Amino acid sequence: MKLCSKIMTGVSLIWTCCLLLIWVAIELSHYFLPLLIALIVLSTLLTFWCIHFLIVKNFKKLSAELSEALAKNDFTQRLTETGPDEFVFLSKQFNKMLDILEAFHKKSITRSDEQIKKLQQSNIELKREIEEHKLIKNELISHKEHLIKLAHYDNLTSLPNRVFFNEMLNKTLKHASRHKNMMGILFIDIDRFKNINDALGYPKGDWVLQEIANRFSTVLRASDILARLGGDEFIILLNDIGHTKFASPVAEKLLQICSEPIKIEHHEFSLTASIGISIYPNDGISLEDLQRNADIAMYNSKHAGGGVFQYFTKKMNIEAHEHIKMEAALRRAISNNEFVLYYQPKLNLKDGSIESVEALIRWESSELGLVNPSQFIPLAEETGLIMQIGEWALREACRANKAWQTEGYQPICVAVNLSPKQFYHQDIAQLVVSVLDETGLDAKYLELEITETAVMDNVESTIKKLNDIKERGVRISVDDFGTGYTSINYLKKFPVNILKIDQSFIKNIPSNQNNTAITSAVIALAHILGMKVVAEGVETAEQLLYLADNNCDIVQGYYLSRPLPEQKIVLQFQKAEHLEILPFSP
Ligand code: C2E
Ligand code: MG
Ligand code: MG
Repeated sequence: MKLCSKIMTGVSLIWTCCLLLIWVAIELSHYFLPLLIALIVLSTLLTFWCIHFLIVKNFKKLSAELSEALAKNDFTQRLTETGPDEFVFLSKQFNKMLDILEAFHKKSITRSDEQIKKLQQSNIELKREIEEHKLIKNELISHKEHLIKLAHYDNLTSLPNRVFFNEMLNKTLKHASRHKNMMGILFIDIDRFKNINDALGYPKGDWVLQEIANRFSTVLRASDILARLGGDEFIILLNDIGHTKFASPVAEKLLQICSEPIKIEHHEFSLTASIGISIYPNDGISLEDLQRNADIAMYNSKHAGGGVFQYFTKKMNIEAHEHIKMEAALRRAISNNEFVLYYQPKLNLKDGSIESVEALIRWESSELGLVNPSQFIPLAEETGLIMQIGEWALREACRANKAWQTEGYQPICVAVNLSPKQFYHQDIAQLVVSVLDETGLDAKYLELEITETAVMDNVESTIKKLNDIKERGVRISVDDFGTGYTSINYLKKFPVNILKIDQSFIKNIPSNQNNTAITSAVIALAHILGMKVVAEGVETAEQLLYLADNNCDIVQGYYLSRPLPEQKIVLQFQKAEHLEILPFSP
């Protein structure tokens, strides 16, 4: 039932009763007034009660429930839907509102949960990024430190490197110039260190360098600086030495400590070093001059055979400049094609034929005239230019020999000298194959001359290389035999066709008994090993006769012919078949 109709019904009932009572009161007229007042009060009270019962109470209940729900923020609560229809309606509307609020609340909770999760996730990521950032930062710091160390210290020996040494030297030079101090720069290079690496391998070679570095440091004072420049090169700054002569005892101690035996596993060996000394301010006041001059002095020690020290001198400087000029001229000679080959015949003593010719290089220099190989081959070897020069000589000799054959001359062999540098640093077998291919010369008409010292330098790899060459059909001869220390044991393993007795043994035979004995012994030994023998440097008829009598196979020397240019040697070929052994007439 609707609230209004209830109220109307209640109030109508009350007032109907009141009017009825008023009517009764009128009937009983003397009680009329008090009764009327009582009735009005009563009906008013009843009306209020009725309104209270029907409206206020329901409102209170509704508002209490609603306040509770809102106060608790609990959107799941619902208002009870009892009482008059209006209140039921109102409750329903509120409940609907609460439904919406609940749904909205839930949605916002889920949304905020999601937001929280996202925030937490990004928080984790942020933390991780911060960690990573820290890690990268630390890595960068340690990398930077490592780079600084790398930039200043040598990795292998932990000694200062060239850069750091130069920095320190520059500072010390300023100090020395203010205080008028004298300083010594010692440039040290270990002799033949390459052999250690070749024989023992790089790791052991590295160990040896560390050992040498440690030994050197024990000799020095705290104020001196030892640095490694790279490879087997060290440099020392002797601070405030007072007099030039005080650098010598240090150099002596360094040489001595370097030569003490080194033991690695079952190997024991000793090393020598070459030292060059320059003095500040006598030999230079700049870092560059002092280092260059110490280096020049070191090279002089090396050329003296190593194991010594030398002070820089003005003469060395002049020689070094000449050396540089010569090197430049040699480079120009290569690009200007200033080399020619001369050929010296080798005579076969058994049948009197020219069995081969040796190609000997000459430099036709516009400034220096005709330069002999002894004047430029060592420099070419030192600078590495020998690779190009040697390759040219091989190609040119093969070309010339093929040309002689094409011109109808009796085929002979051409012997080409190989530098030890070429032998070790070039794939010589491969080079020979390509040159023979290019020139069309048959391999059997080519002979390679390798010096005895080169052959003995690295026996195992030499045997392999020689085999490689021999397999191609090329002849191999050991040049200047007798000047080195070939063991007979090795000699029989070498795939060699010919031994060339060094001219120093031929020089004074037959008068010198030692040389005659050595020559005959070499001839006998070669024959036992199945090799032929060439005697070089034959200058007299006596030498020739002695060699012929002692079973020597081939002879070569000024007595027969000097080395001749291509156009002239050809004339010898024509005479070859009926060659008489006559002294050479220029
Ligand atoms: P080598 O290979 O032992 O050549 C023999 C040297 O002795 C040649 O000197 C030759 O002219 C000289 N000779 C020949 N017969 C006599 C003689 O009866 N008496 C005297 N005293 N000497 C004689 P050369 O031409 O000055 O060559 C010197 C060295 O230069 C050669 O010694 C060889 O080791 C080297 N050489 C020459 N040409 C080349 C080349 O193309 N490449 C390389 N790597 N080295 C070469
Ligand atoms: Mg030779
Ligand atoms: Mg020789």
